[in-house]
Amino acid sequence: MILPEFDYVSFNSIEDTVGFLARYGEESKVVAGGTDLMIKLGTGEVKVKYIVNILDMANLGQIKVNEHRVSIGPTVTHTELACSPIINKFAPVLSQGAAAIGSPQIRNQGTIGGNIGNASPAADTVPALMVLNSRLKIISQRGERWIPLADFFLSPHQTVLARDELIGEIEVEKLPQDTPFSFQRVSRRRAMDIAQMSVAVILFMDDNGERILEARIAPGSVSPTPVRIQEAERILKGQRASDRVIELAAAEVSNRAIDESDLQWLPEYKKPALKGLVIRAIKDAVEKRGWI
Ligand SMILES: Cc1cc2nc3c(=O)[nH]c(=O)nc-3n(C[C@H](O)[C@H](O)[C@H](O)COP(=O)(O)OP(=O)(O)OC[C@H]3O[C@@H](n4cnc5c(N)ncnc54)[C@H](O)[C@@H]3O)c2cc1C
Repeated sequence: MILPEFDYVSFNSIEDTVGFLARYGEESKVVAGGTDLMIKLGTGEVKVKYIVNILDMANLGQIKVNEHRVSIGPTVTHTELACSPIINKFAPVLSQGAAAIGSPQIRNQGTIGGNIGNASPAADTVPALMVLNSRLKIISQRGERWIPLADFFLSPHQTVLARDELIGEIEVEKLPQDTPFSFQRVSRRRAMDIAQMSVAVILFMDDNGERILEARIAPGSVSPTPVRIQEAERILKGQRASDRVIELAAAEVSNRAIDESDLQWLPEYKKPALKGLVIRAIKDAVEKRGWI
């Protein structure tokens, strides 16, 4: 791949980075692992004068936990997410999503901030982040703002991020231990292919593990921007996880996500396949606790 000419700049403070973006943002692109951006530079899809590296800022690569939330730096790699004891304990659905990405090389290089910033409908961390009620800290020289992840995406590869802004932090809900979860994914081959469809599920059960108090379901790769299917979540709420209820909820996910996605090009098979994937995910979540 032959890359066009560009100037590579790198700072070790957020202040200097956003200062540069405030001045040259229109001619710049932020780079973290580069696994998406380098390809776009190579194909000419992205043309810029400056590539602004953010990997030298150690404080953007940390995972921290407080009483209610887990904070993830944007340059945390997928390998780090998959292996982090904090993520595995408090947000394991995200570990599963990150572990499903590409190959070891891509997981070592690609970052969570880049996965979000690239805004692909097939991004594997995003369904997990959606069920974890994530929010993003957006930083620029003008200040900081927090936005829910669901409000970040406008359309495939388009976000609300202005050219002088950075994703500075990703905050996810800290789940009670043993919360049933599942991330399921289908791709063309076994590895190195982006997801053709995926789904992340979290269930909050009553103390006996008999009834679902709350369900969260986010499919991936079926709608232009990430969604939670609240109609399906409502079907599960207050119910026992019987085959009939699981099937009803899965059908609702498939109908809503695909019929309302406005993506006419979606292949016919996706509807029954997504239903099957959601059934598998809900059952996997419940079975993990021995409740089915
Ligand atoms: C062979 C191959 C296989 C892949 N397989 C998968 C897969 O299975 N699943 C999957 O989800 N993805 C996959 N990808 C895509 C890619 O690896 C991921 O999206 C990765 O997380 C991107 O992270 P990065 O750090 O490399 O992003 P970069 O390429 O550095 O950046 C991507 C975009 O995000 C922006 N960006 C990065 N960080 C920030 C930030 N902090 N603030 C603002 N904007 C930012 C950049 O400007 C750019 O627009 C694959 C890619 C390749 C090449």
